[in-house]
Amino acid sequence: MEHKRHDVVIIGGGIMGSAVAYCLMQFESGLKVAVVERDPSYTHASSTLSLANIRTQFSLKENILISKYTLEVLKEFDDQMRAGDRIPKIFFRPEGNLFLVDEKGEGEAKISLALQRTLDCQVAWWTPAEISKQYPLYRPAGHLGGTFGRMDGHLDAYAFLMGYRNKAKELGASFIHDEVIEILTDKDRACGVSLKSGKRLLCGYLVNCAGAWAAQIAGTAGVELPVRPVKRQVFVLKPAVQPEGHLPLTVLPSGLYFRTDTGNVILVGKSMPEDPVGFDFSWNDKRFTDTLWPELAEFVPAFDTLKLLRGWAGLYAVNTLDGNAILGEWPTLKGFFLANGFSGHGLQQAPAVGRYIAERILEKPSTLDLSIFEPNRILDKKPLSETGLV
Ligand SMILES: Cc1cc2nc3c(=O)[nH]c(=O)nc-3n(C[C@H](O)[C@H](O)[C@H](O)COP(=O)(O)OP(=O)(O)OC[C@H]3O[C@@H](n4cnc5c(N)ncnc54)[C@H](O)[C@@H]3O)c2cc1C
Repeated sequence: MEHKRHDVVIIGGGIMGSAVAYCLMQFESGLKVAVVERDPSYTHASSTLSLANIRTQFSLKENILISKYTLEVLKEFDDQMRAGDRIPKIFFRPEGNLFLVDEKGEGEAKISLALQRTLDCQVAWWTPAEISKQYPLYRPAGHLGGTFGRMDGHLDAYAFLMGYRNKAKELGASFIHDEVIEILTDKDRACGVSLKSGKRLLCGYLVNCAGAWAAQIAGTAGVELPVRPVKRQVFVLKPAVQPEGHLPLTVLPSGLYFRTDTGNVILVGKSMPEDPVGFDFSWNDKRFTDTLWPELAEFVPAFDTLKLLRGWAGLYAVNTLDGNAILGEWPTLKGFFLANGFSGHGLQQAPAVGRYIAERILEKPSTLDLSIFEPNRILDKKPLSETGLV
């Protein structure tokens, strides 16, 4: 049996694992960092099944600051992540995010808007008339208005992931094609992993970046994470009437969302309470036909004629305590760091999370203070709310 000693071993090489590896190597080029990824094609990784949206429209200050940090990183991403002759080409498109607001959501929306503005986010309140003027296909009557964030937008998720992965490799991180089956501990410290191939990797620090599988692997060390894999479906359709120009990511108060994508198609989805927990990647056009389409066509009547082209399902790693990230060292297992529980908004958080975890491991001051997401709140059962801990 082979025993290899590393400074840091990362479980999972999706966007989080790759970003953490990149940031570690960027800080200290001599580090020995290994990322264990069981599927380098990323067929089921949430990172590649994501809508890849970035928004400043959050209600928690730290989430807003994370997105602002990401927007800064994106400006230079293609240049910074050039690895040899490979340039990621993430094609960030700041096409905006429009959140429709009804009476029930008005109070919360206005508080969030005020906070976003104090943090210099460019978010406007639009009346229904303004919404119709900008997007004539929409029928916003029945809504009070909407908040439009013009810094928000989307990018190519696969290119974003490959940018981090290839650059981390170029800087010296090794990506190992294998599966972690068990976390090894020595008293109250994580000290390595066992792999499916039979090998063992020993390490000073271990980082859980296993996405929707995070709780499974943490469980092998007796760490109970409130992170569940929840299936989310996305549908790709071609409407008979094409909108003029793009449609921003538009989110109705019910949670139904849609936006245009390359190739004159529309992406549509909605998280629903009955979405199953488990590792299920099947998708079902009935969900679209019976539920999503009628709601979509009510808001965009021109979409009452369309062709459903395809769809897919991916997993949200839902933090059942509060829907927010869990970042930092697990209090009762030294050296075991978590970057988990992103619950549907992790892709956009990778630049800040990668940096924060690397800074925590290397005991450097934090560029962004993300201590609000530290895992002690899980043990204390203190969920984060709009205004902080409750
Ligand atoms: C439909 C959908 C839409 C989304 N839309 C957005 C969006 O618009 N904006 C946004 O910011 N976020 C979005 N998200 C969420 C976002 O995709 C995730 O939060 C983010 O990609 C999480 O990255 P990750 O690296 O933690 O997980 P993943 O990308 O899932 O990577 C985890 C990796 O770990 C590997 N792994 C797991 N266990 C092991 C093991 N034991 N051994 C070895 N390897 C292992 C897996 O193979 C996988 O590649 C969306 C997600 C879905 C499903």
